[in-house]
Amino acid sequence: MDGFKDWHWQVKHSLKNVSSLGLVSTEDTLVTPYLLSLFQSKAILNQFIETNEKDEKGLKDPLYEKKFTKVKGLIHRYPDRALIVLTNKCFANCRFCFRKNNWDNYEGFSLKKAIEYLNSQTQVREVLISGGDPLTFEDKSLANIIEKIRSIKHIELIRIATRALSVLPYRISDSLIEALKPYKPIWFSIHINHPDEITDDFIEASGKIIDSGFPVVSQTVLLRGINDDAFILKELFCKLVRLRIKPYYLFGCDRAVGNERFRVKIEDALKIIGLLRNNISGLCMPFFAVDVDDGGKIILEPNRIISKKDNIYTFKNFEGRQLYYEDAKY
Ligand SMILES: *Cc1c(COP(=O)(O)O)cnc(C)c1O
Ligand code: SF4
Repeated sequence: MDGFKDWHWQVKHSLKNVSSLGLVSTEDTLVTPYLLSLFQSKAILNQFIETNEKDEKGLKDPLYEKKFTKVKGLIHRYPDRALIVLTNKCFANCRFCFRKNNWDNYEGFSLKKAIEYLNSQTQVREVLISGGDPLTFEDKSLANIIEKIRSIKHIELIRIATRALSVLPYRISDSLIEALKPYKPIWFSIHINHPDEITDDFIEASGKIIDSGFPVVSQTVLLRGINDDAFILKELFCKLVRLRIKPYYLFGCDRAVGNERFRVKIEDALKIIGLLRNNISGLCMPFFAVDVDDGGKIILEPNRIISKKDNIYTFKNFEGRQLYYEDAKY
């Protein structure tokens, strides 16, 4: 295989310093050569490159993940699903990452402890493997971990969260697919924020995953100056659905230290959601959610209920028209 399309080659040749390119370099800068080739898109560049702006506002652990960490690297917040922070490594570092301020004291992940814990939690049906990027692991190591998790009787499925399709699509190699095939159902949840991330290589990689029988959903972070625009998001979500990827979540940018410049007001976000809701099919429409302290995800929708009198609701439809609806009697 030629070097550029080999993921190990990409990792080996990743840039840790971009100051020679006239960009701001930080301690955690990491850019794959593939990602660098997309930097003519400002919407991509600005997701990965720091500015000189000082911004100390925000929370260190905005999702209170420490509180829900049950054993090393395992977060259990919702009853029926647990999340594994498999690694603190990524192929490229997003500036708005909500876990980025915790990586220094990341304690690692203990497979033995996680298996023990999951065995004791029979209500857990689903395990999310996240990070960092779990695909930074070698195929065999990842398959070995998944095999152990899947051997627990009450675990019905695995979800792998990755950013690889946007920053290193060559990671989706034939050998990765072969390594994961025995452990279906595995769902992929990909992190993508802008239509510019959908390249031919992205399309090839996502097609390979889906054709091999792994469903794919997407998660997007709403980012000021990058994708806080109904037209951009419409293009993104419609393109994803054409590629057979279901837009799943649009997240408000978490209140992590340094994220203020990316955050969008809820009021503005709901306007965008309202516009999208009226203009694209339900299939293209993700849930808009914000994470609030130790309370988890709160899903938000523009309010459609204007009032309720006796048994009659007054609703506002997608055109802004008022409609009356007689509620059920019992
Ligand atoms: C988001 C999240 C999940 C998954 O939630 P879904 O709504 O099923 O996607 C699980 N655990 C934690 C800790 C999370 O933050
Ligand atoms: S890929 Fe995910 S974990 Fe890694 S830096 Fe980006 S948001 Fe954070």
